[in-house]
Amino acid sequence: MNKTLLITGGNGFIGSNFIHYFLKKYPDYRLINVDKLTYAGSKANLREVESFENYHFIQGDIADESLMKSIFSIYDISGVIHFAAESHVDRSIENATSFIESNVLGTTTLLQAARESWEMKGELATRRFHHISTDEVYGSLGTDGKFNEETPYDPRNPYSASKASANMLVKSFGNTYGMNIVISSSSNNYGPMQHEEKLIPTIISKSLKGEPIPVYGDGKNVRDWLHVQDHCRALDLIFHQANPTETYNIGGGNEVTNIELAMKICDILDHLNPENHSCKELIAFTKDRPGHDSRYAVDDTKLRKKLGWAPTVDLDTGLKNTVEWYVEQWELTTQQSL
Ligand code: NAD
Repeated sequence: MNKTLLITGGNGFIGSNFIHYFLKKYPDYRLINVDKLTYAGSKANLREVESFENYHFIQGDIADESLMKSIFSIYDISGVIHFAAESHVDRSIENATSFIESNVLGTTTLLQAARESWEMKGELATRRFHHISTDEVYGSLGTDGKFNEETPYDPRNPYSASKASANMLVKSFGNTYGMNIVISSSSNNYGPMQHEEKLIPTIISKSLKGEPIPVYGDGKNVRDWLHVQDHCRALDLIFHQANPTETYNIGGGNEVTNIELAMKICDILDHLNPENHSCKELIAFTKDRPGHDSRYAVDDTKLRKKLGWAPTVDLDTGLKNTVEWYVEQWELTTQQSL
């Protein structure tokens, strides 16, 4: 076993997909996953790897200073890939406190623990701290243009403000202490193992339950969808190959409005269950989210040119596989509850 990485938030949507991807591709790495198991973290997401010798789970909070220090003293952590965060915009609008605690204070606590440990070992400039961020830090776009890595941060809700603050802190540790940091900011992810509160799982689960499918405002907000497997491949490249202090944007190249997305998912569901009424009849426009960003799109030319990445999953195929995965989970759960 050659390297031990600390993964934070590995029980969430992207973290769990990443752990599966990484353990399969790199059996020589050992992964330590620290996750608080908030409502968003699921042990079931990682059941298949629980017994792996090179996987170890620690339930804990990244804002817990003594726990973070003890992890760095017990294990020889050679890199950190930091996913843990409160991630749902609507919840941040209801109450921002946990977003500041996990995303800002938690990131700072983790940075400090890594810095102290790596400084003592004389490895500050070599061991990597990879912070997982979002295109939402850049704010909102009109109908044209894309965010690139130089776009100034302009967060417009408490979630994106907490992520932009975390990005700034990560950058400051690179500049002040010479820490080997990298930041990647991706567009909206989709795929298996996402919490039911997010848009795509909500559309699917409401449709399966025959309940109204809520779509904010007029449904015209545009998001660029990235399959989580393509995100994992990008993170692998960035973690292993980016130069210190670099930032990378990761996009899906799949811009659609929320209503177009809901229609696409309904088409797939209707095809799977032709005897049911059309899922489209369940779509219900609801009061818009306050301060709802109208469009996000990232320019990921840097990632494509410098690291040779390109997404491999087209939206229609990715959505079909994703819908089928959730339908299968739904059928398993309903069978178990009979
Ligand atoms: P998620 O909400 O599904 O998972 C977050 C995980 O972090 C959960 O397992 C939770 O238990 C854990 N966690 C939360 N606070 C913690 C704390 N204080 N200490 C330890 N663990 C804690 O989120 P996700 O969608 O997988 O997103 C992962 C990362 O990617 C986040 O940083 C998010 O900002 C970023 N991101 C997500 C998307 C997306 O579309 N989902 C897009 C761009 C960036």
